[in-house]
Amino acid sequence: MHKIVIVGGGAGGLELATRLGKAYRRDKDVSVTLVDKNRTHIWKPKLHEIASGSMDFGDHEVDYMAQAHWNHFTFRIGELKDLDRLSKTIDLAPYVDANNEPVTPVQKIAYDTLVICIGSLSNDFGTKGVKEYALKLENQTDAKLFHSKMVNVCIRAHHQTDLIEQSQLHVVIIGAGATGVELAAELHRTTREVVAFGLNGIDADKDLKISLIEAADRILPALNPRLSSATEQLISKLGVQVHTNSKVMEVMPTGIRLSDGHLIDSELVVWAAGVKAPDYLKNFGGLETNKLNQLVVSRTLQTSLDPDIFALGDCAACPCTDEEGGRGGIVPPRAQAAHQQATHMFHQVKRRLAEKPLKPYHYKDFGSLVSLGKFSTVGNMMGGIVGKNLMIEGYFAKLMYMSLYKLHELSIHGFLKTALYTLARLLTKQANPTVKLH
Ligand SMILES: Cc1cc2nc3c(=O)[nH]c(=O)nc-3n(C[C@H](O)[C@H](O)[C@H](O)COP(=O)(O)OP(=O)(O)OC[C@H]3O[C@@H](n4cnc5c(N)ncnc54)[C@H](O)[C@@H]3O)c2cc1C
Repeated sequence: MHKIVIVGGGAGGLELATRLGKAYRRDKDVSVTLVDKNRTHIWKPKLHEIASGSMDFGDHEVDYMAQAHWNHFTFRIGELKDLDRLSKTIDLAPYVDANNEPVTPVQKIAYDTLVICIGSLSNDFGTKGVKEYALKLENQTDAKLFHSKMVNVCIRAHHQTDLIEQSQLHVVIIGAGATGVELAAELHRTTREVVAFGLNGIDADKDLKISLIEAADRILPALNPRLSSATEQLISKLGVQVHTNSKVMEVMPTGIRLSDGHLIDSELVVWAAGVKAPDYLKNFGGLETNKLNQLVVSRTLQTSLDPDIFALGDCAACPCTDEEGGRGGIVPPRAQAAHQQATHMFHQVKRRLAEKPLKPYHYKDFGSLVSLGKFSTVGNMMGGIVGKNLMIEGYFAKLMYMSLYKLHELSIHGFLKTALYTLARLLTKQANPTVKLH
């Protein structure tokens, strides 16, 4: 029996487990196990929509136990804690419920092939006060917490008898990468819609304020400059206040302090500036990591010190090459990279089991898309039929953006279920408020 163990059922891991489970369902000599610390999966690029209230979490979550049953793999809940490369086992911490009641004991799971795809966490670069006072968008719990705080802040302001203070309905988003920009645009709409549901003590145009803080000299610094300026124009038109060349020195209970001493008061602060792999990966089972704690892997996705352990997605530092041997650096932490690597890994497992040589992974950059919610979608597409680098905007860009998620859904649900889920959401959308209110 060859035991394949995948840790992390996110954008990459869940697609991989589903494909392998289906491929080896009749093979008694292969077992596929997925481990995740949560019971349900949500595609991470949707987190800002949950946080802003434009998406209902329950409509999009995937239950790991059901997914495993339907796709012929085993699911084990628990947080990866330890790795013993000599005995080829991993340890999972006990899983406890919301009331701290134990649900599972410590679990030891044996592997022949281990694939680690546990994603990334936000990187606060040691900035003072972030842990204590800033909200993050790392998982579904964070997104739901932000949403409930945001709705409560609005309800509280509506009910108070004193005048609404300037900072009271002010959201500061630190980091103007795709996550920060998308969250700002969604929040602009959803906060106004929450207010429109009877909170007439609030003057939306005067009281609601969103600021986007970026240390670089432009928003979306990792993307094409033309895309940055087109996006900045759009979000400035919405009234989002953009502060570039602004480094945050401290997050405080009442707002933030910039490196030039300037204070910005605000009720809610969101930290969305950069990612790193979890700290415990440093020295995990003696595997090699880089300064962002990512596991160093070769182009075959094998970790540099152990050919039986693979890593993919955000937690892996994989050399970024194309088929012509160009590019450099490492593969960026993006959903399209996790999706491509999961597909590559599926074929690697097949080659490994057939004792064939493994193949190198090449990153294909299809471009970047930034959704500004209802207002617009902007992006650039790379290569293929569209030429080298084409700027796109509006409806076509929106369709391309939506297709990223559809690709993920197709990989885990197949065509029929994806079509049914899409139809069901379209129908329920007509009967529900346009923004989630609880
Ligand atoms: C708000 C937001 C918006 C984004 N928007 C985009 C976008 O528009 N386009 C884009 O390309 N990318 C986007 N990204 C990045 C993208 O989501 C990630 O690159 C992608 O999800 C990485 O996939 P992954 O499989 O490596 O990890 P993830 O999808 O993060 O999955 C990791 C999984 O591992 C599990 N896990 C973590 N630690 C443990 C542990 N110790 N034990 C067991 N399980 C564990 C987690 O529960 C999770 O299920 C966005 C990210 C965020 C946060």
